[in-house]
Amino acid sequence: MNANLLQTPIDYLKGVGPSRAELFRKELGIHTYQDLINFFPNRYLDKTKYYKINQLQQNSAEVQVVGKIVAFRTIEQKRGKRLVADFVDETGKMELVWFRGQKWIRENLKLNVPYVLFGKTNWFNGLFSMPHPEMELLEEHEKSLRTAMQPVYPSSEKLTNKGITNRVINKLMQQLFIETKGKFYDTLPQNIHEDLKLISRAEALFNVHFPKSQELLARAQFRLKFEELFYIQLQLLVKNMLHKKRIKGYIFDTIGENFETFYSEHLPFELTGAQKKVIKEIRSDLGSGAQMNRLLQGDVGSGKTIVALMSMLIALDNGFQACLMAPTEILSVQHYTGLIDLCKELNTSIELLTGSTKASKRREIHEKLENGELDILIGTHALLEDKVKFKNLGLAIIDEQHRFGVEQRSKLWKKNELPSHILVMTATPIPRTLAMSLYGDLDVSVIDELPPGRRPIKTVHRFDSNRLKVFKFIRDEIEKGRQIYIVYPLIQESEKMDYKDLMDGYESVSREFPMPKYQISIVHGQMKSADKNYEMDRFINGDTQIMVATTVIEVGVNVPNASVMIIESSERFGLSQLHQLRGRVGRGAEQSYCILMSGHKLSEDSKTRLQTMVSTNDGFELAEVDLKLRGPGDLMGTQQSGVLNLKIADIVKDNQILKTARDYAKRLLTEDPNLEMPEHKMVKYTYQQVAKHKNIWNYIS
Ligand code: ADP
Ligand code: MG
Repeated sequence: MNANLLQTPIDYLKGVGPSRAELFRKELGIHTYQDLINFFPNRYLDKTKYYKINQLQQNSAEVQVVGKIVAFRTIEQKRGKRLVADFVDETGKMELVWFRGQKWIRENLKLNVPYVLFGKTNWFNGLFSMPHPEMELLEEHEKSLRTAMQPVYPSSEKLTNKGITNRVINKLMQQLFIETKGKFYDTLPQNIHEDLKLISRAEALFNVHFPKSQELLARAQFRLKFEELFYIQLQLLVKNMLHKKRIKGYIFDTIGENFETFYSEHLPFELTGAQKKVIKEIRSDLGSGAQMNRLLQGDVGSGKTIVALMSMLIALDNGFQACLMAPTEILSVQHYTGLIDLCKELNTSIELLTGSTKASKRREIHEKLENGELDILIGTHALLEDKVKFKNLGLAIIDEQHRFGVEQRSKLWKKNELPSHILVMTATPIPRTLAMSLYGDLDVSVIDELPPGRRPIKTVHRFDSNRLKVFKFIRDEIEKGRQIYIVYPLIQESEKMDYKDLMDGYESVSREFPMPKYQISIVHGQMKSADKNYEMDRFINGDTQIMVATTVIEVGVNVPNASVMIIESSERFGLSQLHQLRGRVGRGAEQSYCILMSGHKLSEDSKTRLQTMVSTNDGFELAEVDLKLRGPGDLMGTQQSGVLNLKIADIVKDNQILKTARDYAKRLLTEDPNLEMPEHKMVKYTYQQVAKHKNIWNYIS
């Protein structure tokens, strides 16, 4: 085992030196031998064939050619200089072209000496040319370690300009294998090796950098992906165990007055099976003595609010206060009025605190919170202000979690001696695979059933040229007594233009649906919150039939009589946002519709998004597609992107390997929770190494 050797700074590798080392550190994050060995190719090229120039085809495939440079010339153009070389073999002539790094090329490439070059060819004016070819002297090419599949390493323009080409990396990798003699200790337990018929780690590392065959390459990749995912899962599972052991929470073992009365007398509807199941899970968490840290996932309209309320009632029954935080004022107000209504027969005190709460009211709330008169506080992130002090906060619920940062969450749960229990509710369905790897240390409940009687929303895609038909449809729906949302995109960078789109849209809708027969509400981010609330209220009360809005209404708003959601410029929205918006309708007994408007010009991704929306109402299915289109980092928002920083595995594509890795990690921990068995010495060591280097995002830290 040469663990120490692998910690050698990269500067010491023959062929690196201080300036390259600096580049490696800055551009690739490679500091040590170990980092270099874990720098994996992102694709492989088949370099088993050599082409003659007269065999080249006009298919712009990547090809390998042997020949000599016979002349260089520089061509000046309006857009800059380019360096061209005439390259010949015994069958013909072609050109090599460089737009960057010309000085280095001129100084380092030799005339009339055989080179092997590799690259993509272009056909222009009766001649083949190859821009920025990879080049190697034939003599060296014959000496170097040849493999069937040629690895291609991730690169950057900066690296290429400084002469660190793929070939250079390849040579350094060879050097590394020479210096370390390719001896890499194994890191996985023997039984896993046997079960999965894994090749050794040394063999895997060698074959991933210098594949001897397609088959060995595949086995090498499997071996390394498995290992990477295995250690991540191990870390998450251990964290989860420790969390359960260490973090004590208030014990809510009383199911009392509030909960009982509400459950037996005031439930406005029969709970769905899924709601019952989730409430049971929460009850058991709250009574366990450990702090609850639970994520509640439920598609839009699945009925998370009632679950939130009943959980809060349990806190109240045990002598504690509870709070519910929502991302927008509109949503907070709606939660507040909704909960007041649900609790009207109970003896609970509920208040609302937002940015626009008046100073006198604010003081009153602060006071009642501190002396314990107030049971439930609902609001926006105004709840996070330092002045907001609870007498004894027992449960904090956060709605629509993706709007809040990690920091804000931790602020909430620190408002007490013991951490209060935390329930995070989200309608953004996180695919199980991702939830497993990102939230492995947090418990997840899912409401996977909609309340009965809901009719699936019908979704269609219409081009802008069909707008008149859409207007007719709106008119008919209004005739039937329904209400309509029309939503415009509002994206930060082009805010001015979007705002204009919205106002133009509002005007044309007003012309089409004139007063006094029709009444229209408008809500957008630049309005004062009092005005927003006023407009929202008019729509909620049915005084207006049409709501023209930006995405401020995206989350949570509940107007059961609204049956049509029209999304303008729908190609500009992401899938999860489209799904959220669609979730604003379909809340009543009537058939609801979602109409996705767009222009004719659509990118492939936009087409896929719109087609997916039309074909399914299932949030989880949508989330899987979204994940494939955007990648996990993006889906989870920047704060969480790159958290896992995977080197070789891909959470989406290697989903199956992830599951296997998780199963084995679980089994290992059941057998040896502290990794104390002698045969797990290496596992423990690797685990510690990984834990040191990979700071997996911890939900509550
Ligand atoms: P979300 O999960 O999106 O927050 P809500 O809690 O706002 O969903 O519930 C959506 C609508 O469904 C509300 O009007 C609510 O009253 C209603 N609802 C919730 N649960 C049930 C149920 N079990 N039976 C009938 N209606 C329900
Ligand atoms: Mg909700």
